[in-house]
Amino acid sequence: MSTLPIRLFGDPVLNEMTTDYDNIDGAVAALADTMIETMYAAPGVGLAANQIGVQKRLFVYDQGEGDGPQVIVNARIVESDGEWTYEEGCLSVPGLSWEITRPNQIHLVGLDLHGNEISIEADEFEGRIFQHEMDHLDGILLVERLNEDQRKKAKKLLRARAASLPAADPDGFARLLGN
Ligand code: ZN
Repeated sequence: MSTLPIRLFGDPVLNEMTTDYDNIDGAVAALADTMIETMYAAPGVGLAANQIGVQKRLFVYDQGEGDGPQVIVNARIVESDGEWTYEEGCLSVPGLSWEITRPNQIHLVGLDLHGNEISIEADEFEGRIFQHEMDHLDGILLVERLNEDQRKKAKKLLRARAASLPAADPDGFARLLGN
C-alpha cells in the first residue's frame, strides 16, 4: 500500500473538469486503493482523483460509521433537496474550514469497481461528502463556495498566514478568492 501527495490549492489540476471512465479495469482498482490509503493517512473522509492529479471521475470516502471505505466511479448527482449548513474543510485547503450551506438530501448514482450500478440516497454528513467530492470532480474548490463575508475574512487570514500555510502556488488562492 502506498500514498500519494495531495494537490493543494493553487494547483491548476484542481480546477479542471474530470472525465468518465469508459472501462473499469484493475488499474482503476489499484488507483482507488492508493486513494483510500492517502485519504486515511491525511486523515480525511473523502478524496477525489484529481486531488492526487488524476483527471478521472472517481472518488473514495468513508463517513466513519463502520461501513469501511467506499469507491464510486463516474458519479452524478441526479436529485438534491432541502438545505443544511455544516462546517466544511478540504484536504487541498489544509487547516481551514467554513460554514457552508448546501442541499441536504442527495441522490447519487454511479458505478462500483465491478461496473455495477450504484444508487445512494444520502443526507447530512454523507450527502455533504458527496457534494464536496462532486465539486472536486467538476473542478470546483471549496473556497469557491464561500459567501462574500467569508471571502473577505479568508483573504485577511491568508495574508496573515501566507508564510506558514502550505500551497502549491500561494498566489493561486488569492486569485480564486477574486483578488
Ligand atoms: Zn476537498
